[in-house]
Amino acid sequence: MHSINNVFDDQQHTLNAMMSNPLDVLRRVWGYPEFRGKQGLVIENVIAGGDTLVLFPTGKGKSLCYQLPALCLPGTAIVVSPLVALMRDQVEELRELGVCAGALWSEQSSEDAIEVKRNLRSGDLKLLYVTPERLATGSLDSMLGSGGISLIAVDEAHCISSWGNNFRKDYLSLGRLKEMYPAVPIIALTATADPRTRQDIIRLLNLDNAEVFVDSFDRKNISYEIALRSNARTQLLDFLKRHKGESGIVYCLSRKKVEETVEWLNEHGIRAKHYHAKLDPALKAANQDAFRLEEGLCLVATVAFGMGINKSNVRYVAHLDLPSSVESYYQETGRAGRDGLPSEAFMVYGMQDIVQRGRMIDEGDSTDQIKRIERAKLNALVGICETTACRRQSILRHFGEDHPGGCGNCDTCTKPIETWDGTEASIKALAAIYRTGERFGVGHVIDVLTGKVTDKTKRFGHVDLAVFGAGKELTAAAWQSIYRQLLTLNLIRIEHDEFGAMKLQESAAAVFRKERAITLRKDRAVSRGERRKGSDTSPARSGLSAPDREIFEVLRQERLEISRELGVAPYVVFPDTTLIALATRRPTRLHEMLEISGIGQTKLERYGERFLRALQIAVE
Ligand code: ADP
Ligand code: ZN
Repeated sequence: MHSINNVFDDQQHTLNAMMSNPLDVLRRVWGYPEFRGKQGLVIENVIAGGDTLVLFPTGKGKSLCYQLPALCLPGTAIVVSPLVALMRDQVEELRELGVCAGALWSEQSSEDAIEVKRNLRSGDLKLLYVTPERLATGSLDSMLGSGGISLIAVDEAHCISSWGNNFRKDYLSLGRLKEMYPAVPIIALTATADPRTRQDIIRLLNLDNAEVFVDSFDRKNISYEIALRSNARTQLLDFLKRHKGESGIVYCLSRKKVEETVEWLNEHGIRAKHYHAKLDPALKAANQDAFRLEEGLCLVATVAFGMGINKSNVRYVAHLDLPSSVESYYQETGRAGRDGLPSEAFMVYGMQDIVQRGRMIDEGDSTDQIKRIERAKLNALVGICETTACRRQSILRHFGEDHPGGCGNCDTCTKPIETWDGTEASIKALAAIYRTGERFGVGHVIDVLTGKVTDKTKRFGHVDLAVFGAGKELTAAAWQSIYRQLLTLNLIRIEHDEFGAMKLQESAAAVFRKERAITLRKDRAVSRGERRKGSDTSPARSGLSAPDREIFEVLRQERLEISRELGVAPYVVFPDTTLIALATRRPTRLHEMLEISGIGQTKLERYGERFLRALQIAVE
């Protein structure tokens, strides 16, 4: 965060904003031409003094829903946020816009805290970010100026619910807010969609009279690709080729795999850093900072990494292991493309993932009932991996949202999956399990089917069975695929206590009796070089002509330099969308720059000249 002394040089700006209508404020302060989705309606409701619940997916622009009213109303808006990293990021962005904003947290430098408190008392501070406990103690009241509190925003409001994974005990204290400040409008915001969490938020924050605004959870700018694992590292490298110079996240299940992947990527010319829960705290913070401040960094992480990442230009999220549920998958992939530019979600998976995740559930210390829920969640995700329909449609259906399918922006849409009648093959596959006594893992059973003479097939007398070699017409890989699909179809299960032995489920009987036909998907051979056309261009830049792309790179360099001088993240100076608009429209005068989305008054004054000069040099 840069020096506090030069940030509030534009308070006039804030004062002007108070007298204008919301759209004017949006244009002048943020430089955005229009509200996005339901933002305008939400803002109207807040300014009118109503309580509000906002359920928008990531990237739809939730922050603006309270930041903008804060500028239009007298007094200071209090924003409750669960993480210091998030608060600092937002304060940084607001200060760059010329808005007087601050945060209070426990380990803050006293100099910064004194400045914030002074601005609070004088009534200049338009937004104050605090942790929940700070607010609930009421200790803020004595610090407030005569303007009082304009509104209270509860960000990441799902943290109040114990239903999801992000429960924060200190959020429960926020239940008293309504009683403490009955006249102050409360706005709660979350990207968590499920009904249970939503009910919890309303009940626990006493928001019974709140107006609820829901936006579609579809993230149109994110493309989804889920591929079978052949060689995960090569597949990842192929994928990353398109993202040279861009930032993204690669998720792995274990810390060991995180470390190995980082090493391997660095050896292959991709700048990567790691992040997991057990990492030395100083290194963890340094790597997280590097991800915010630098461009073109690949962060390889366990799920420990994510919340608190406000970076708007994360261009890709890759999963080398299966997450635990569709919810986690969507939350993790949702960290890509907050700025609305095309971004990619890529995942590899295989039979082994399903087995491994299943084992983690079975060996965990949850109650049987929770284990059942966890298994159901895993199955739902595997269902999305195995679907032959549009992935976006399958994902949104999981969240109770209808989508007609055929999105054209997922792998099943762009490369439709062929199916085949796998009834006969399934019967053979099931028979091989049955005849070998439901005691063996998938590797051995496939050896039997394909007639492979090994120590084990000889020792158990399996070479003499009728099923031995009965499946020679298919390769071992094809049988792997069939067993994986039988598992997804719940015709077989894997017994983790018995070293991964496959067992028949009751439902298999109908297949044996030929009462049930089985349609299977043809797995795509994943070979190198088989990717989409234009495969080494990032989708975010593929809309740019070659000369525009060069200019974009020059502007990016300028932005990086500015961000280094100020010690702020590049996306805080300007989002990628603004640089792209500059590169394509190439304004030559300062006032023309105001027509570019993302350039408001303050940023024009601060950076206009520099970008104009960079543009001139680049165009010549
Ligand atoms: P969320 O909190 O919902 O994930 P953010 O508030 O972080 O989303 O906003 C995501 C990005 O969209 C930010 O870069 C923000 O500046 C930008 N944004 C928000 N509203 C608009 C708008 N009306 N027009 C253009 N960009 C917007
Ligand atoms: Zn699709």
